[in-house]
Amino acid sequence: MRATAELATADRRHLWHPFTQQEAWCTEEPPVVIDHAEGTNLYDTDGNAYIDGVSSLWCNVHGHRHPAIDAAVCSQLGRVAHSTMLGLSHEPAIELAERLLSISPPGLTRVFYSDSGSTSVEVALKMAYQWWVQRGERGRTGFICLENAYHGDTLGAVSVGGIDTFHSLYRPLLFDTWQSPAGDAERLAELLRRHGDSVAAVLLEPLVQGAAGMLMQPPGYLRRVRELCDEHGVLLICDEVATGFGRTGRMFACEHEAVSPDLLCVGKGLTGGYLPLAATLTSERIYEGFLGRPDELRTFFHGHTYTGNPLACAAGIATLELFEREQTLELLQPKIELLARTLAHRIAILPAVAEVRQRGFMVGIELLCEDPAAGLGHQVALAARRRGAIIRPLGDVVVLMPPLSISEADLARLVAITASSIAEVAVGHLRAAA
Ligand code: PLP
Repeated sequence: MRATAELATADRRHLWHPFTQQEAWCTEEPPVVIDHAEGTNLYDTDGNAYIDGVSSLWCNVHGHRHPAIDAAVCSQLGRVAHSTMLGLSHEPAIELAERLLSISPPGLTRVFYSDSGSTSVEVALKMAYQWWVQRGERGRTGFICLENAYHGDTLGAVSVGGIDTFHSLYRPLLFDTWQSPAGDAERLAELLRRHGDSVAAVLLEPLVQGAAGMLMQPPGYLRRVRELCDEHGVLLICDEVATGFGRTGRMFACEHEAVSPDLLCVGKGLTGGYLPLAATLTSERIYEGFLGRPDELRTFFHGHTYTGNPLACAAGIATLELFEREQTLELLQPKIELLARTLAHRIAILPAVAEVRQRGFMVGIELLCEDPAAGLGHQVALAARRRGAIIRPLGDVVVLMPPLSISEADLARLVAITASSIAEVAVGHLRAAA
């Protein structure tokens, strides 16, 4: 194995990291180079252990190197690693689709695979638009999305995004949308009254806007959005890339309000955080709108090379099996309560904390900060790393999103590390200001 310093040097010479200012990356403290993982811990090349406090970017579910998922991937590797879904099929894709539909909101009957959350959203947008065109409604070219939305980084997904820091620069390249403030059903109703005939679909992250900083929607909002879409004959797309697979305490966030969307986007936790796979689920009504003779060109002309990759599907099947076998959602409920209690006792009381937002295993801790350039969130993440936890902030919102399988002891330790890291950074900030 190469020494950490040598790897760090090569990283800085050759890599370009996502969502990372490389100038700082190359001059600040050297990167942590992950070597292996076990359960909810990551280990670096120097042997240091870290709690995976953000589930390796919100996707790990049952822990790392889970024997059942490892075995499923290895067994699939002994059959075929990849074979295309264009014109062919394979058992893991078929079985995963069956399992996925059996746990999804009622009315969803079809699974279209892709390979990232962003592509699952691209697929949903294109499907919704094409469906209307093929019904003879060519004027439905618009989408209503929410302010502060995040649906991924490809250009279609950026068009329906609403986070200025990430999205505004690209506006000249994007299609126009209408934005509605999250939680404000009246404003959405007004937009639908005025523009309903031009709208293909309303798109939202149900219950929690993750990348916006874990912003919570009021109870009943999602249900009301569904009703408004029905009243105006507009499709509803729910993006559960972040909220899906148990994150909010139920398998899908839509379940909390008994809502079935017309299109559902899933990714991240679908493979337990093992391999890139996403899916856009839809109803028979949408699916049938694409049927016809090949020369009628009603086909959905979309498909990525690694769509429905067999290894990823095998990981997905094992992941869904584990939800049943290990009673993941049942065991999660007391941990959600423990998390709420420890956040209240250890974090909410800190003078540097403006607000703590929690839904299930999604937590945003908003720091009090007059100067966003101070980078307090980033400093807290670095302080947490020194104490043995990997967390990643969204600006000045510290995010906690551990694997659902985390033990109560590690959960309490993660919150304790976060509390002392916030306290340390706040003291340093006050000293610097004095
Ligand atoms: N949609 C939501 C709600 C997300 O939170 C994310 C990623 O964080 C995405 C889409 C994009 O997923 P990916 O990064 O896999 O493209």
